[in-house]
Amino acid sequence: MPVSIDQLGYKKLTQIIFEWQAADRASLFALFIVIEVALHWLWCLFVWFKRDTYGLYVNMDLLYPVWIWTTVIGLFSYWIVGHVARIKTSDQRLHLWQIILVTIYTVYIAIAIVIMGYSSLLAGVSLVGGAMLGMMLIEQRYIWRAFLAQTFLILFAVSLPYFGIALPNLSQLVVTSLPPEVYHQLTYNEVMTIENAIAASNFKNNDLRWDSVREIQRSSAFFWRSTHMYLALPKAIFIVAVFRVLLLVLYASKDESLKQANQDDLTHLKSRRHGLEMMQQALSKMSRGQSFSIILLDLDNFKDINDEQGHDAGDRVLQKVSAILSKPKLDVAGKDAIVSRHGGEEFLVVLPNTAHNKAMSIAEQLRQDIAQHPIALSDNLEAVESVDTVECLNVTASFGVYSVDYEELTAYKITSVAHTDAVSLPNDICQYFISIADKALYKAKHLGRNQVVSANELLVQGAITKKRYCK
Ligand code: GH3
Ligand code: MG
Ligand code: MG
Repeated sequence: MPVSIDQLGYKKLTQIIFEWQAADRASLFALFIVIEVALHWLWCLFVWFKRDTYGLYVNMDLLYPVWIWTTVIGLFSYWIVGHVARIKTSDQRLHLWQIILVTIYTVYIAIAIVIMGYSSLLAGVSLVGGAMLGMMLIEQRYIWRAFLAQTFLILFAVSLPYFGIALPNLSQLVVTSLPPEVYHQLTYNEVMTIENAIAASNFKNNDLRWDSVREIQRSSAFFWRSTHMYLALPKAIFIVAVFRVLLLVLYASKDESLKQANQDDLTHLKSRRHGLEMMQQALSKMSRGQSFSIILLDLDNFKDINDEQGHDAGDRVLQKVSAILSKPKLDVAGKDAIVSRHGGEEFLVVLPNTAHNKAMSIAEQLRQDIAQHPIALSDNLEAVESVDTVECLNVTASFGVYSVDYEELTAYKITSVAHTDAVSLPNDICQYFISIADKALYKAKHLGRNQVVSANELLVQGAITKKRYCK
């Protein structure tokens, strides 16, 4: 199967989530932390480099400890990347390192959020994104606890100024004369309002020009918004991409398990349950003037094949007959045909919108296809001396066909669906129709097998009777 770029990321991530060892995943988580911390470190470098300009908006006294702290965390996480990957055997050690990693990351992010502003884009993305990423890569219970702890830490930090405790803040505007301890108790908007007022009064006293204050405020706001974008956006994009992959994995596994549940393992035809479900759906979609047919077929003397040739040969026969039944020819003949393995060596072909005569000729065609198609007991022709010596089995099947038209169907309806011809039918209606086809199949067996019998004709002749249907 050709692999597209789209699938590459998807496949790789699926592999990491489902196949990698816990230690490798923890190592990858540490690597993500390294990348995130590296972005923060580069931001510090950039601000320091441009300190003449950005010194106006950034609290430089705080920047240096932040830069050192970022360096320490970065180096430590980088060391953990290698260290955790090497832990292959000891579960306990791995759990310990996972707890250390998660705790350090939680504290690191909580500090970053507090000093950068807890109403920022960075705060939202870090809080949710970090937890999502962690859930995939680290023991989930640690991440869940860390997430709660981080939320609590941030709420705690948010409430501190109301108790008169000032928190360090990287953002500042040196041009204002606001006392620092007041500054930290105010929201960004409040600071802006006061700064405007101070700037306006300064303007009146001719200390400052109004234009220059506004310009500094505008560029400060622009600087901090760009900072939050720079720190949060790569993480946000990455998290959304990962989330998309996770959903793809989920859908794929849902499709796979649905396929498993709906398919018969041996023959790859629809399972009995799925066949009946689809028959019920097709029946309820029937509209005025249409007919609906079913063919029930059963292999003749199949027990003998099992007894004489072995169970494997029996399985092979079932597979070959299934291949004949699911041939495209059947689809052309009876468009939308639903073929299922109804029982051991019994198959059900449902032909929506197919009249009885047509269903009879399709059944006859299938009977001939099976009877005229000797089934080789070995695919491995090289193992036998010539094609002529390949052991083949002649298999036949008996068929019962039953058709019902829309008018008859409406006699069984529970409710009509408003403004349409569609009818809502009782759940066991399919079993009831199949039991009528089964009577014709029984007759075919009785008449010597390898033939098609119409249940509708038998009903007209009075050879069989319909059991009264009890709703
Ligand atoms: P009849 O012509 O009357 O239908 O005779 P029959 O021998 O086909 O019918 P019977 O119901 O006596 O035998 C069906 C056999 O099918 C019995 C069972 O062991 C076999 N069978 C059911 N499922 C499987 C399967 O998955 N693989 C194989 N190899 N045999 C199966
Ligand atoms: Mg049989
Ligand atoms: Mg049978």
